[in-house]
Amino acid sequence: MDSWFEMISGAKKIMEKYSVWTCGYCPEVQVGPKGHKVRMCKASKHQSRNGLHAWQEATMDDLVGPNYVWHVRDLNEPALDNNLKRYYGKAPAVVELCVHAGAPVPDQYRSMMRLDVVPPECDEFDLVA
Ligand SMILES: [Zn+2]
Repeated sequence: MDSWFEMISGAKKIMEKYSVWTCGYCPEVQVGPKGHKVRMCKASKHQSRNGLHAWQEATMDDLVGPNYVWHVRDLNEPALDNNLKRYYGKAPAVVELCVHAGAPVPDQYRSMMRLDVVPPECDEFDLVA
């Protein structure tokens, strides 16, 4: 990730390979299959959804803003669970995307993404550190 623009052009390619979702009611973005189930949607009109986001396919514009996404360690694991949200870290959407494409996690984001925290259900998960 040398420059912001390289990162953006790289992210466009990655988006073709990974699914990226955005909420139709708030700016939250999710990288990975399906939207997570952490009930943090702030959209006031949508209280009937109980905080669940309304996921739809994201565009590049959804990624380049100051959007922070939940860091998903393994895209093959089940979607993030609301009950475990305190174990999840966050990362800027573009960084999260690049990490899933194989880029190393930038040092300044390591603690933010909680790479040192192991969720209870992932006891034998190998931290790639
Ligand atoms: Zn939302």
